Amino acid sequence: MNTLKLRDYTGKALSECTILELYNAALALTQDACRNRGYNSGKKKVYYISAEFLIGKLLSNNLINLGIYDDVKAELAEAGKDITELEEFEYEPSLGNGGLGRLAACFIDSLATLGLPADGVGLAYHCGLFKQSFEDRKQHMRPDYWRKWGMANWMKRTDKHYKVQCGDLELLSTMYEIDVTGYGSKCGRLRLFDLDTVNEGLIGSGIGFDKKEIEKNLTLFLYPDDSDEDGKLLRVYQEYFMVSNAAQLILDECVERGSNLHDLADYAAIQINDTHPSLVIPELVRLLTEKGIEEKEAYQIVTDVCAYTNHTILAEALETWPKHFFKAVVPHLMPIIKRMNDAVKAKYEEPSVQIIDEYGNVHMAHMDIHYSHSVNGVARLHTDILKETELNNFYKLYPEKFNNKTNGITFRRWVIECNPELTELITEKIGEGWKTDARQLEQLIPYAEDETFLQCILNRKNTKKHKFSAWIEQYQGDKVDPESVYDVQIKRLHEYKRQQLNLLWAIDRYLHIKDGYRPRRPVTVFFGAKAAPAYVIAKDIIHAILAFSSIVNNDPEVSPYLKVVMLRNYNVSMAEKLIPASDISEQISLASKEASGTGNMKFMLNGAVTLGTMDGANVEIAELVGEDNIFTFGQSSEEVIEHYKNADYVAKNWYKKDKRLAAAVDFLVSEEMLEAGDRKLLKQLYDELLGKDWFMTFPDFESYCKTKDKALAAYEDRMGWAKKMAVNIAKAGYFSSDRTIDQYNNDIWHLEKDC
Ligand SMILES: *Cc1c(COP(=O)(O)O)cnc(C)c1O
Repeated sequence: MNTLKLRDYTGKALSECTILELYNAALALTQDACRNRGYNSGKKKVYYISAEFLIGKLLSNNLINLGIYDDVKAELAEAGKDITELEEFEYEPSLGNGGLGRLAACFIDSLATLGLPADGVGLAYHCGLFKQSFEDRKQHMRPDYWRKWGMANWMKRTDKHYKVQCGDLELLSTMYEIDVTGYGSKCGRLRLFDLDTVNEGLIGSGIGFDKKEIEKNLTLFLYPDDSDEDGKLLRVYQEYFMVSNAAQLILDECVERGSNLHDLADYAAIQINDTHPSLVIPELVRLLTEKGIEEKEAYQIVTDVCAYTNHTILAEALETWPKHFFKAVVPHLMPIIKRMNDAVKAKYEEPSVQIIDEYGNVHMAHMDIHYSHSVNGVARLHTDILKETELNNFYKLYPEKFNNKTNGITFRRWVIECNPELTELITEKIGEGWKTDARQLEQLIPYAEDETFLQCILNRKNTKKHKFSAWIEQYQGDKVDPESVYDVQIKRLHEYKRQQLNLLWAIDRYLHIKDGYRPRRPVTVFFGAKAAPAYVIAKDIIHAILAFSSIVNNDPEVSPYLKVVMLRNYNVSMAEKLIPASDISEQISLASKEASGTGNMKFMLNGAVTLGTMDGANVEIAELVGEDNIFTFGQSSEEVIEHYKNADYVAKNWYKKDKRLAAAVDFLVSEEMLEAGDRKLLKQLYDELLGKDWFMTFPDFESYCKTKDKALAAYEDRMGWAKKMAVNIAKAGYFSSDRTIDQYNNDIWHLEKDC
């Protein structure tokens, strides 16, 4: 029974409160409700260490998890206030980039929900990821001062401080905490470290700042521009600061719970989310030996405690650091890393599995694999590729360590919160059980034949499309026809994700319409993506999309049939608005390159149909929904891997062979485009595609166009499409992060549930 009332936190009638007063009251109420629930506890606890937690707004999510959303909404309504005003008023935290950080956020939600004692551990960035705007049809970046927003904040300062030694530099940390609510359960915590000496005044124009003054800049930004030496060095400082704090916190807490440190693995499980937290391994060895444990035993303890999640097979994304970086930042860890490397060398001669290579570079993933007891990939295909190709030499040494944990998403945020319309419809048919046991969504399968139900699904999708259309017009002025097909690609901008393929399709369609073709129904192509500050081609792709959209949207002959919308500053809150309104989910990465994807799961759950390659978790989606309910195209991962192995792909040959493709590519540097955009940037992109096209856009162009045409034709059979939507929703249960976390716990952590 909820006895907490907003009115008790305002000191005056709700109708007389400002939005800020109401918000602060809701925040205080939520924090009390958390405390009343209590925190999951037990002998063994998992520490999920991650450089990113892309948590999104928290108010509604917390109210839903605490079971008081409807009460608060009603209390506000009685006073003539609308809870959506509070939701819009809240400012989104900026603590993550994309998929990896969003995964960490879903995981801490599921950990709390399942009653598992757990902390997320990371950094309290002041500005996190930049805020994106468009000027002159180019990406502009500004600092996102999210911590300055409002008067109250979810993040609470604690009086915990640790010393972190980096060479001659001694840093003193402060720990902050954010409560993590579980759905109908006790809570968990997100613990984020910061330095009191960090100075936002250091930020100059845009997101530039002096990268040398570590005490003043350490936690200003998430992954600051690392295109130069100072930026790279700063990143190593960030990583070490994060894990040294984590390691000290973990040892303190475990001793408090009764560990004698020899038995640390009975008290702690550490999950290393990608290689950013990998230095936790030598840091723990250092701290344990300082406390009197033999170094050899320390290796074993750390291996028993740590588990590593791999998120990528892109060679350029696997972290390796030149030894001199570590000598500058963590000179006291270097001898330990060297001895760890010697121990590996004594056992295994194979050069490709060494921690320190012949050039003196330290391979973080290699350290993780040797000194963790578990190595997991994030989708079945990804794990298979790790085992058979990328990490094959490690797999041969440690087959027992390798396992798969297909990613998942929290259904509380990704349907209950963001799509109450669909949630209500589902619940009307199959009851509430699916909210805690997502597999029960399968009970919807019989309704995929029920025309009344299918009409309801279409109606609710339509409601969401109208809402989004109204929102986007006031947000950035674009007029979108809610009757058009919403064709959506929202994710970080990367060549392997192939926004350029989607752009080439749109250009092809534009040329077609200019030639007199009149499609039956308009299509709106939505892009939302930020490009990393130093990623030149990614920024060129954004520029090309913006230039092209200005041509299409202002052409009265074309715009009734085709629109291209580039969304400004794509983030979690925007995803929550757009995904429920989407018809087609674009998941078109080059096969073998997307480890899993989680956007694909959010779309599926909200009744969008996937148009995708057989990559990452798309493979598992295809298997679950069956070929009638997904549109797949393109080269297989085996073919792609073979091409890379033989180095036999030549973009130009495809360009010469395929006239439609050549016309679309040439349009990038056409008179119209050069007028709308910047010659240098467009030419740069054109040359990159023709001269290299590293992620093989051209070979998939024809099958992409054909398959997209097929999807658009299928859309016209409204009942047929609604059936595909229903099957996708019904089969989405597998992708609940509750399932993923349950598997992590059963196979890797072995914690006892506190419920
Ligand atoms: C889910 C999500 C992502 C990850 O999307 P992918 O398509 O899996 O790359 C990135 N950013 C935000 C804001 C998200 O919500």
